[in-house]
Amino acid sequence: MNFLSSLISLLFPFTCPECGKALKEGDFWCDICLRKNLNIHLINSSFNEYLDGCYTLSNYDKGIRRALIQLKYNNQKSRKKSIEYMVESFNYWDRFKKYKLVVPIPLSKQRLEERGYNQVDLIFKDVFKRKNFFYKSNLLIKKRNTKVQSKLRKKDRKENMKNVFIVNKRFNIKDKNILLLDDIYTSGATMLYAAKALKKAGAKSVMGFVVSSGAI
Ligand SMILES: [Zn+2]
Repeated sequence: MNFLSSLISLLFPFTCPECGKALKEGDFWCDICLRKNLNIHLINSSFNEYLDGCYTLSNYDKGIRRALIQLKYNNQKSRKKSIEYMVESFNYWDRFKKYKLVVPIPLSKQRLEERGYNQVDLIFKDVFKRKNFFYKSNLLIKKRNTKVQSKLRKKDRKENMKNVFIVNKRFNIKDKNILLLDDIYTSGATMLYAAKALKKAGAKSVMGFVVSSGAI
């Protein structure tokens, strides 16, 4: 890093998650890097009896992968801005019209205490509140701690997530259309079991929305 870029990063410490270049105030990606990372689509394997499919914004790779890891494991909450910016780049908001109730995948009580925050809330809460959705962080409850999905083999991932979610009894979700949020979609087991819990509690339909998907 030369003197000038050191000075710039000192004055404007925010860097692009992809190329590491210092950004000017108010920017959270280089335009080119953001475009490289965006890959908005419905995940092929996400349609099942509980879930009406799941939209993803990107492949779990490159800059967005780095940003998510920094937010989740390195306690770099400033990365929220880059990921949030990517969420706002979503261009099919009209497809979410019927899903007024928005529910993030929760952490277990133990994990929440360790990390101090649910990264899914950091990523989505402000955006969805600005867009006048009903965002309910405490609607789903994760009953126990599970192993990190990415460290398990595919066949063990379903077993790991089985019946781990329940719906908070304070909420009546009968006949509600629910948008279910998570940061990363890998095998789809997390989304599947969370959607199953929502459907069992009476939800009419559940649609997924994640930042990233794909192999780890
Ligand atoms: Zn960049």
